Amino acid sequence: MGGEKLDFLILGQGFAGTALALELLKRGKKILVIENPEFPGASHRAVGLVNPVTGRRMAKTWNYEDVIPLCHTFYKEAFSQIFGKSGSFLQERKIFKALHSVEEMNFLAAKSASDGFEDIIDIHLPEAPGLPSVFQNTVGWLEIKNGGRIDPKEYLCEAKNHLKKNHSFLEKPFLPSELTKIENGWHWNEMDFKNVVSCLGLGCPWIGSSLWAVKGQVYQFSGLPDWGNQVLKTEKFIIPLTNGSGLMGSTYEREFENELPDQTGFEEITRDLSPWAMQQFQVLDSWAGIRPTTKDRLPVIQKLDESLFALNGMGTKGVSLAPFGVKKLLRILELESGH
Ligand SMILES: Cc1cc2nc3c(=O)[nH]c(=O)nc-3n(C[C@H](O)[C@H](O)[C@H](O)COP(=O)(O)OP(=O)(O)OC[C@H]3O[C@@H](n4cnc5c(N)ncnc54)[C@H](O)[C@@H]3O)c2cc1C
Repeated sequence: MGGEKLDFLILGQGFAGTALALELLKRGKKILVIENPEFPGASHRAVGLVNPVTGRRMAKTWNYEDVIPLCHTFYKEAFSQIFGKSGSFLQERKIFKALHSVEEMNFLAAKSASDGFEDIIDIHLPEAPGLPSVFQNTVGWLEIKNGGRIDPKEYLCEAKNHLKKNHSFLEKPFLPSELTKIENGWHWNEMDFKNVVSCLGLGCPWIGSSLWAVKGQVYQFSGLPDWGNQVLKTEKFIIPLTNGSGLMGSTYEREFENELPDQTGFEEITRDLSPWAMQQFQVLDSWAGIRPTTKDRLPVIQKLDESLFALNGMGTKGVSLAPFGVKKLLRILELESGH
């Protein structure tokens, strides 16, 4: 790297830091991403779902019209940027939400016919295509389209290898005391940078304390009947993987004692999913992570200083919000046109 001043120091290689790094590399910027391998953030614990409508009333995700198409494009372009061929890190998957009452069904049936929802949700009564009969003890199903899943481990690992190949990655913990302001930029670890972007999640020294920490637990299990790659949802979800294994989760805990999965979380998840043939499963693995969340559930895309920025607060939706947050940040940096 010599003694030249690099364009960007990116702190953290979660979904936010990774998406920013790939976009900046694509624009020919000289960057360095640093990551503390001892402190895997929320992205390394996520299950990777993109769910375009959420909540009890199935509201469109914030800024749906921009966020969801951009998310599909981003993971496609990231794939070809990394592997030099077409494909996508985002595997398209239908999501089926169980409907528990006639009232809920009527409400969502009306919604599915309303403006802007025709191509996103659909009602199936009483059976959903492809789900085996063992799952049919509900009033009906809501099909959610335009969703999908990335494999977070695969995406983050391949992106890291790509950054390494481009001499743009360093495994090293960031200590705020080691960052010093210089003329037109920053000095860190014997290198100079024009800009610093903090994508440190809850570890951010500038805005971390204003974030809400929300724990989530996930269980990987075997014994799942084959119903293709469709995701099943109640309050919780089941994501089929391969060979009859799947993931179920996750909890949303504002109060917790540690970062480990526990019996209470396991019971909460299995209680919600147990009506559906989940009696005969075997837990293969479990983990938990802490989401960097904001009170208003909106991401933080902020200029902290003339050359210091924060991209954070992705909450439960880092997979889809990271590409959108990056686009917004690139506009602040005047590296992208638009609003
Ligand atoms: C169980 C669970 C399931 C989830 N499922 C989904 C899902 O299906 N879909 C979805 O969209 N979102 C999901 N999420 C939420 C998602 O994980 C977050 O929105 C996202 O990870 C936030 O990304 P980030 O890059 O902002 O933060 P982080 O992923 O936390 O990244 C911060 C990075 O900074 C690094 N770091 C921190 N401090 C330092 C330091 N001092 N020095 C160097 N590096 C440092 C960390 O190692 C980390 O890699 C889930 C979260 C959990 C916990």
